[in-house]
Amino acid sequence: MIRLRVALYARYSAGPRQTDQSIEGQVRDCTDFCKQKGFEIVELYADRHISGKTDERPEFQRLIVDSKKNKFDGVVVWKTDRFARNKYDSAIYKRQLRQNGIQIFYAKESIPDGPEGIILESLMEGLAEYYSAELAQKIKRGMHESALKGRALGPNRPLGYKTGENHTYEIDPDGAKAVQIIFEMYIAGEANADICRRLNDLGYRTSQGNEFNKNSVSRIIQNKMYIGIYEAAGVRIEDGVPALVSKEMFHLAQMEKERRKTSKRERKEVADYMLSGKLFCGHCKKAMNGVSGTGKSGRKFYYYYCPSSRAKKLCKKRHVRKEYIEDLIVRKTVEHVLQPEVITHIADLLYEELQKGDTRETDIAYYNKRLRENKKASENILKAIEKGLASDTLLARLDSLESEKVALEGELAYHKSKIHTVEKGEILYCLGKYLEPETLDWEAYKKKVIEGFIKEVYLFDDHFLIYYNVTGMEDISLLDKENDGCSVFDERSSKWS
Ligand SMILES: [Zn+2]
Repeated sequence: MIRLRVALYARYSAGPRQTDQSIEGQVRDCTDFCKQKGFEIVELYADRHISGKTDERPEFQRLIVDSKKNKFDGVVVWKTDRFARNKYDSAIYKRQLRQNGIQIFYAKESIPDGPEGIILESLMEGLAEYYSAELAQKIKRGMHESALKGRALGPNRPLGYKTGENHTYEIDPDGAKAVQIIFEMYIAGEANADICRRLNDLGYRTSQGNEFNKNSVSRIIQNKMYIGIYEAAGVRIEDGVPALVSKEMFHLAQMEKERRKTSKRERKEVADYMLSGKLFCGHCKKAMNGVSGTGKSGRKFYYYYCPSSRAKKLCKKRHVRKEYIEDLIVRKTVEHVLQPEVITHIADLLYEELQKGDTRETDIAYYNKRLRENKKASENILKAIEKGLASDTLLARLDSLESEKVALEGELAYHKSKIHTVEKGEILYCLGKYLEPETLDWEAYKKKVIEGFIKEVYLFDDHFLIYYNVTGMEDISLLDKENDGCSVFDERSSKWS
């Protein structure tokens, strides 16, 4: 039996409320894991008390270099965060290792395999993005307060309004007249271009002082502020603003908008090939393209086809109906991944996971304190040097303080980047959009699932393989498919691998 040769990588960093395993503990867990899996450990790499700045992890750099030398086939780390301090670096290094043919294993992985793992990882990415906008949140809270008072927010006012006392909305007579003309002409069925020409000829200008264009008309037609509804920063107040048009007029304009939309759709029907770029021919691995054709009855049909089969008869893959294959793939994903009990379970796991990592307040305070001490110490040495007391010892001390400063700043930045607070309800809400809707548009849902979860689909004649987005950030070429860390669902055997 050939055993997989693996290297262990361990990292320990000092910090307050240290809950990390020691290097020895990490190595013990990794060794147990290897025994279980039947791996052969050929090398150990360990960075001690070193901050997450990548260039300061000599053993990790040695590991990366060695990964090119065919010394081992895999790397075992204790947990995902041993590997890199942020998702960006992590993705880069993982990719580099995989390109060198190295598989990555986690001895104590909190993210489970199978359907939960897929959603959990995708979601972790999504939430991190969502909560990194902490500042934006604060601004929003401030705006919410103002909005409750019906105040005008931001620098711009819609056409027909100006800022009055206490930042409330007041009518601007010229703009208000232009708004009324727009509604009247629109309801009468006049083309947007004609409406604009008329307004421009009459000397009216947009709220920004420019000439009107087609887009300004569509925007104005839909603005509910013109019937007195104030909406800002999550606050809605009926009659919160002086109205410029009647509710009847507004309603008529919306009906006219619908009418124009449908007639436009009838004129030009464009199919949305949702799997475009994600669907591959199982035989020749070429990306399948979308195409439409007209049947004898005049009805349009939409297909995906393999380019080598069509152009040069190099491949035997038959084309496949767009609707059929998209529906099937999304149905399979719903059946095997996006089930309510799976979602609830994931919400629990994710919540626990985020609670565990919540040591940021103490961490940030600790590193700020260390940085202040570091600065003080450096200043004292500099003062001594100014007084002519320079010595080799002092200069060496200054040097080490400087590198300590860089390390501390790295830690601080890392802990700051981890800032997020999350409620269970919010997680469920984020996840809920991936549950199959009862009322919502199936097409829209299909698109969401394909965009959010499907990485690649390999289509054969009697079965297909779905590769799900597991890590999201990685871009892996077709060649190292076997090792790319995706969860694969084989439709024929109904099994995960
Ligand atoms: Zn083909």
